[in-house]
Amino acid sequence: MIEGIPLGRPSVGEAELAAVADVFASGWLSGAGPACRRFEEAFASATGTGHALATSSCGSALFLGLRVLKVRPGDEVIVGDYTFPATGHAVVQAGATPVFADVRPDSFCADPAAVEAAVTSRTVGIIAVDVAGQPGDFDDYRAIASRHGLWLFEDAACSVGATYRTRPAGSLADLAAFSFHGRKGITAGEGGALVSDRAGEIERARRLHTYGVEPALSRRQVVPAFEEIGYNFRLSDVQAAILTVQLERLPALLAARRSVARRYHEGFAGLPGVTVPAELPDREHPWQSYLLLLSPGMDRDRVVTALRARGIQCTFGTYASHLQPVYGKRDPLPVSAGLFRRHLALPMHAGLTAEQVDRVIEAVREEIATCG
Ligand SMILES: *Cc1c(COP(=O)(O)O)cnc(C)c1O
Repeated sequence: MIEGIPLGRPSVGEAELAAVADVFASGWLSGAGPACRRFEEAFASATGTGHALATSSCGSALFLGLRVLKVRPGDEVIVGDYTFPATGHAVVQAGATPVFADVRPDSFCADPAAVEAAVTSRTVGIIAVDVAGQPGDFDDYRAIASRHGLWLFEDAACSVGATYRTRPAGSLADLAAFSFHGRKGITAGEGGALVSDRAGEIERARRLHTYGVEPALSRRQVVPAFEEIGYNFRLSDVQAAILTVQLERLPALLAARRSVARRYHEGFAGLPGVTVPAELPDREHPWQSYLLLLSPGMDRDRVVTALRARGIQCTFGTYASHLQPVYGKRDPLPVSAGLFRRHLALPMHAGLTAEQVDRVIEAVREEIATCG
């Protein structure tokens, strides 16, 4: 057990264990089996999309998506800068070049003006990240994509249960990739999904995710032929069964996170030196993370160290991709760089009690006063 109040904690219990027992009894533990099929149907429906493919991670879903979008070496893909670098990595893995776009200071998602300014003759598409789960400006992204003949891909790693103008996260672009890592809204420890209305793309991704051949469950021929090089990016049926239960529990999990966010908002209201994260009026925030913005003069890392010493697990927000050495020297993106330096991620998960949230608020208030 981690001491104190953890940053994230999966909310799993007896119902998930019972679902795992059913998979054990069924004998099909590998991936792409009946439990995956059941989860895919439920998940496509939950995200308002026609088709879903369960994958080993969001990173593998992003990579498969770029493969079926036929991304090639020399292509440029515009990526919202403020994200876990799995987004940029997938572009590089697909052989193309990520071009990072700066973000809006209120949503932390790609700024449509920066996206448009980043378009060149080599641009083939846009990956827009739902930062901390809240979707970006998808109607604007769509207009830019249409104007320039680009595809649009949603990195929905954190946004299960979110909405934008009443549409569910996952349905906002041509393709979307989700993560079921332990810190995300629903989890099987690890896992991911690729969703789309485009049947052909999901079918091609399905073959690629199982070594380039039709999966055993849906195979028509006795001996199928390999027509292309694929991978093992399958989710196991054990994980899929856990996720089917988690998806049923999603409304309750979202409500619990929302009440934590509301309590933080109230606890930090009027506190000088901090800005609480905004929920924009035309979207529903799923609160995968709660990112408090400290004033520019404050030493965020000192605050993190002090809080951790008091048993409160907290950390930075997410990464400014353009500052990661692996992508080489890039032009400065000041908004993203500022968020990367100043964001403080507080404990956020569906199991936090009001008493724990109050302890966090009190500790943050005290440390802000001394570190400020
Ligand atoms: C967590 C995360 C990922 C990576 O998810 P995995 O399932 O670990 O591959 C990608 N993008 C964003 C925005 C994330 O937060």
